[in-house]
Amino acid sequence: MPPRRIAIVGGGIVGLSIALTLRERGHDVMLIDRGISRARGSFGNAGIVNPGSIYPLAGPSLQAHLVRYAIGADPALRIRWRALPAFAPWLGRFLVNTTAAAWRRGTAALAPLVAAAPAAHRAFADRYGVGALYRAQGWLRVYRDARAFAAGASERAELLGHGVKTAVVSGQHLYDLEPALARRFSHGLWFVDALTVDTPGALVAALETAFADRGGQRITGSVRAVIPRADGVSLVLEQSAVEAELVVIAAGAHADEMIRPLGYRLPLAAERGYHVHVRLKDGARLARPIHDVAGAYVASPMAGAVRVTTGVELARADDPPNRGQIVHALAAARAALPLAAVVPGSDWCGSRPSTPDGLPVIGIAPRHPRLLFAFGHGHIGLATAPVTAQAIAALLAGEPTPVPLAPFDPGRFG
Ligand SMILES: Cc1cc2nc3c(=O)[nH]c(=O)nc-3n(C[C@H](O)[C@H](O)[C@H](O)COP(=O)(O)OP(=O)(O)OC[C@H]3O[C@@H](n4cnc5c(N)ncnc54)[C@H](O)[C@@H]3O)c2cc1C
Repeated sequence: MPPRRIAIVGGGIVGLSIALTLRERGHDVMLIDRGISRARGSFGNAGIVNPGSIYPLAGPSLQAHLVRYAIGADPALRIRWRALPAFAPWLGRFLVNTTAAAWRRGTAALAPLVAAAPAAHRAFADRYGVGALYRAQGWLRVYRDARAFAAGASERAELLGHGVKTAVVSGQHLYDLEPALARRFSHGLWFVDALTVDTPGALVAALETAFADRGGQRITGSVRAVIPRADGVSLVLEQSAVEAELVVIAAGAHADEMIRPLGYRLPLAAERGYHVHVRLKDGARLARPIHDVAGAYVASPMAGAVRVTTGVELARADDPPNRGQIVHALAAARAALPLAAVVPGSDWCGSRPSTPDGLPVIGIAPRHPRLLFAFGHGHIGLATAPVTAQAIAALLAGEPTPVPLAPFDPGRFG
């Protein structure tokens, strides 16, 4: 494919990975972003590149919790009911996807995408000299008693069926792995092959530098309109316009707003999450992220502290933060780890850009051949950004894609 002038809208981990990959292939690439790094999901996530993230959020196991979620009794998922009109259509489709059949379909689609994630990150790390930001100790899901561990049996069977490497650790073995853990857990599931990133914001910053070093053009601004034409696409910003032969929309939780005027009604919700950084007490250390299933938080060693992240809050992306979930997560994490003081100013709230079937949207826009979509990566955007970039580059070049893209087809929502 001859070099093309390509604009990417959105400079989070997804857009940036695409921009870098296309630049490496010799294209003239412009990356347009609002330029507020802390506002990105890519800044505040838990940093896990997990080949075991094969489950869409909607699934049969969720049905048993629906009442607790609805009344705000479960910290894993909170709903801001005042925002319901904004995400009601999404919620309807989400509930349809909680059937066993839909869950299996989603799992089969996600498995190859996440399986390819660690290798794609390793290739990025080598190529762009960012290996020091990665750890290869895996991560641990921990259970407080045998009953809770037994409840995850079908998910473990599914992981095994998809060749995800895990190890069950119990009793003293768990504490040999993570000596700082309070003695309140009976079992752990160790995702041995997962990579972790310390810290995701630093990875984005390093990749931005790599992009600029390779002659990529960064434009700071907000895209107000996308106007496809027969021979290209115009992007209207606040003060200027950008002309490109091809445009990739990778604008995270705001992607749907941008393409709605073109007639695309892709259901996208902001599954919001919170984090805070907390220091460990002197002498304590955490080797890898832990997900305390009952506590509904992840604690990731990061930036010389521990980043505690919450479960899901269904709200509008721009709703004011509600600290209830992070307060709960922090209290639960304090009961599991020797945590000391909160790092001042580390409070964060951001969005997982999520589709109701839990699958990203990756492909050519159904009615506009010069427009491509790459968004909706939900809980796995950090992990799957480099593979998404390879897929977009292959699509444009007419090459076979690294993973099957049919399940991620932008046309699937009608
Ligand atoms: C608490 C939490 C924990 C998570 N943990 C993990 C994890 O461990 N592993 C994992 O893989 N994923 C995780 N995720 C999910 C992951 O963070 C997201 O899937 C990912 O960051 C999405 O990246 P993105 O590039 O699509 O969006 P973003 O990072 O949000 O970037 C989108 C960019 O588009 C820009 N933009 C939007 N509209 C416009 C416009 N009109 N003009 C110009 N620019 C625009 C925005 O300014 C932003 O910079 C987590 C998320 C949360 C909230």
